[in-house]
Amino acid sequence: MSERRERFDVLVVGGGPIGLACAWTALRRGLSVCVLERDKVGSGASDVAAGMLAPVGEASWGEESLLELNLASHALWPAFAEELRDASGMDPGYSRSGALHVALDRDETEELRRQHELHREHDLESEWLTASACRELEPGLAPRLAGGVFVPHEGAADPRALVASLAAAVRVGGGSIEEGVEVVRADTGPPCSVRTADGRERSAEHLVLATGCHSGQTEWLDPGERPRVRPVKGEIVTLRERGGERVCSRIVVGDRLYMVPRPDGRLLVGATVEEKGFDTTVTAGGVHELLRESYRTLPETAEMELVEIRAGLRPGTPDNAPILGWGPGAVVFATGHFRNGILLAPATADAVAALVSGEAPAIDLRPFSPGRFAGTPAVAAAPGPGGSG
Ligand SMILES: Cc1cc2nc3c(=O)[nH]c(=O)nc-3n(C[C@H](O)[C@H](O)[C@H](O)COP(=O)(O)OP(=O)(O)OC[C@H]3O[C@@H](n4cnc5c(N)ncnc54)[C@H](O)[C@@H]3O)c2cc1C
Repeated sequence: MSERRERFDVLVVGGGPIGLACAWTALRRGLSVCVLERDKVGSGASDVAAGMLAPVGEASWGEESLLELNLASHALWPAFAEELRDASGMDPGYSRSGALHVALDRDETEELRRQHELHREHDLESEWLTASACRELEPGLAPRLAGGVFVPHEGAADPRALVASLAAAVRVGGGSIEEGVEVVRADTGPPCSVRTADGRERSAEHLVLATGCHSGQTEWLDPGERPRVRPVKGEIVTLRERGGERVCSRIVVGDRLYMVPRPDGRLLVGATVEEKGFDTTVTAGGVHELLRESYRTLPETAEMELVEIRAGLRPGTPDNAPILGWGPGAVVFATGHFRNGILLAPATADAVAALVSGEAPAIDLRPFSPGRFAGTPAVAAAPGPGGSG
């Protein structure tokens, strides 16, 4: 077979939201970019994700650096969405409906009060609401409601629409995207070179590793150099309204689930959090739990059409924060975004584009450095509550 060799400023391995956002942002800085995706763009976790942009809802005790990063990326989203729409001519499905977190019994109320305490400690915008105030916002909520917390500025993007618009923006901007091309070997450089399963080689000044939950298995890196990423399974159900009746107009988050309404009448009900390796089987138990909790929270969901059931693999890390920064040679790691890869796409892309341009990123990447887990196993942090991305 004759070998073609091609040269770029940046090679991005992985065509998910992270790889594509990095590619688009690097292109806008005038770099030549090629994205290599082993399947189709957006065929990883983003194909299943709900797309909540929820830095406050995702806040957890002891995860201050992640909270700061999530807030910084959330602040970038309005301009990111608008520029992406302009560049691609496609809508990434960004909206800011607000998120209502609800408690249905005493235990859930106590847990929600703890969450609200955390919000207040960090000066985050959220408001405690009585049950009747919650019902004024969302009349479809269950009668046994005990109270809630409203987070006004949170919203969502549609991950499939986001990937489609990012891919279009990359192509319009002169970047190349190759699908069905698996990277099987790489020299970390500088300069970097990669070999794909079809025997072709490409080289670049920099290589960005954005292979999501597969990045911990990167065989062309020494075991000690591989990012500490593991797959964390999430099952999610999509319902659709019938007869134009919406069951909610905001994101509704319960103790064990979230519900994200889309403008086209779909309602995403997610998500389980399971340590099952690379298994993506949809299970009766997982779906039962989601449907039971959705009925318990918004009873009218029982009347909705069930249109899709999926399971995806989040790229989890030992401390739930992403892995961002220099790996070996001229490789940049952009992985491990766990429950927040959609939310973190703009901030990740800015940071990675700065690194490959030889500049200092606007955000402090030290808490997310690839080397921070030296000597710790890939599986550590307990899975978060069900009502998470
Ligand atoms: C059920 C569920 C709900 C979620 N909800 C939310 C949410 O509400 N908000 C939020 O912000 N995030 C959410 N997430 C998380 C989000 O989907 C991920 O963090 C995000 O998709 C990570 O993006 P990525 O590009 O790193 O990885 P992925 O989206 O997984 O993409 C990685 C890509 O790399 C490709 N690839 C892998 N290996 C190779 C190789 N060797 N060569 C070439 N290509 C390769 C894969 O085919 C894939 O297309 C959710 C995830 C799940 C599963």
